[in-house]
Amino acid sequence: MRRLKRSAPRAADPGGSGGRHAVLVAPPGSYRIAAYLEAAAGLGIAVTVVSEGEHSLTPAIASGIAVDLSAPRQAASEIVGRIGHRPVDAVVATDDRTVEIAAEIGARFGLEHNPPDAARATRRKDLARARLREAGVRVPWSAILSLDAPLEDQTRRLIYPCVVKPLAMSASRGVIRADDPAALLTACRRVERIIAGEREHEERRRVLVEGFVPGPEVALEGMLERGGLRVLAVFDKPDPLDGPFFEETYYVTPSRLPAACIEAVVEETARACRALGLRTGPVHAELRVGAGGPWVIEVAARTIGGDCARLLRFGTGHSLEALVLAQAVGLPLETSSEHGGAGVLMIPTPAAGTLRRVEGVLDASRIPGIEEVSITVREGYELVPLPEGASYLGFVFARAASAADAEAALRAAHAAMRVVVAPLWRIEPAAVSPSLLAAGGAEPLR
Ligand code: ADP
Repeated sequence: MRRLKRSAPRAADPGGSGGRHAVLVAPPGSYRIAAYLEAAAGLGIAVTVVSEGEHSLTPAIASGIAVDLSAPRQAASEIVGRIGHRPVDAVVATDDRTVEIAAEIGARFGLEHNPPDAARATRRKDLARARLREAGVRVPWSAILSLDAPLEDQTRRLIYPCVVKPLAMSASRGVIRADDPAALLTACRRVERIIAGEREHEERRRVLVEGFVPGPEVALEGMLERGGLRVLAVFDKPDPLDGPFFEETYYVTPSRLPAACIEAVVEETARACRALGLRTGPVHAELRVGAGGPWVIEVAARTIGGDCARLLRFGTGHSLEALVLAQAVGLPLETSSEHGGAGVLMIPTPAAGTLRRVEGVLDASRIPGIEEVSITVREGYELVPLPEGASYLGFVFARAASAADAEAALRAAHAAMRVVVAPLWRIEPAAVSPSLLAAGGAEPLR
């Protein structure tokens, strides 16, 4: 039986609950909030959710704070002011977009925190690339292109294949491989439309281009404590990610790469964390094992994400979010990793259109090793594939004796399902002339 160890109760606890209090900073609609709230309830930690806009706060949370999250320093000051004298034991960011604000708040409360500029670098791919390269971490060459200047001049001397990406998006949105100059120009214009709504000028008018790193890709899930990296899991992504778009599909753990390779992945991730200046909290890193060893694609200061994190259970039912919260509030959990293999399939979006139905879900869920098939998009909803969209149709979870068995179960489940998508016809009312409508040539929108 594993025990939950508790550190000494806080001397001053005006709330009288005897429990810890964590501030959870989440962008509106974050799908990671629920997993954190569940973990907090299990650990007896009170949570104040900070987000943007009244409607993004979970109704169950009476103590939510709604603020404008676009300017981290101002947001942090406002949040600290609104929390008032209530003691805070930890500040946790759910998503890339809020890591910098969480770091700012942590600093103001005198809590263990990541330096705000390190947190910012995990959100901004251009800043991360510069820091990592300076520190000698293995990263591809990269350049920043301005969409306000002629691209032909800026792309003349680049090397192909390369990858163009937004400075600050996630889930592979807007990440496009280009094999020649013409493809790069087309990709840049496509990314320009995708980032047109970004708030910061730089993030709206600049793109990052970098060398394409071939080779198998892995994801590392870990926790930092005073700068030291503790590895929780390394996932293989068994389907080749060669582009032109990079849709996440299969994640399988433990990794089946040779032990020396995994060791090198861990070392390079730890080096990248140090180079970025990260010290505490969750780390989700993506690396490709290419020529000469692992290449860092990205290091994020957050968890893998609500649904996928369910793959990781530590000891007696602790979730990844429970580990993050417990560490943050200083409540050590004794854990042990599970044996065997586990995997998730993020069900790919087969085409753009309207989701009609997903067939074969029951058959898929009956396949040995499959724990759950969860379709998260409702019938009638629009599906937008990468690079413009980034929504997953749903998830399939597997647990089996080995990683290979878990992967086989996921592949069988995927094969058992059929996603039926109907084309989406957009009718722009302004473009339909009254005479055409009168002639029955087009139907008005209903
Ligand atoms: P995001 O933060 O949106 O996920 P990433 O920079 O992590 O963006 O890229 C998403 C995916 O695109 C990566 O997991 C990887 O598969 C692929 N990718 C990105 N950059 C490169 C690169 N330089 N070389 C090879 N693949 C890349």
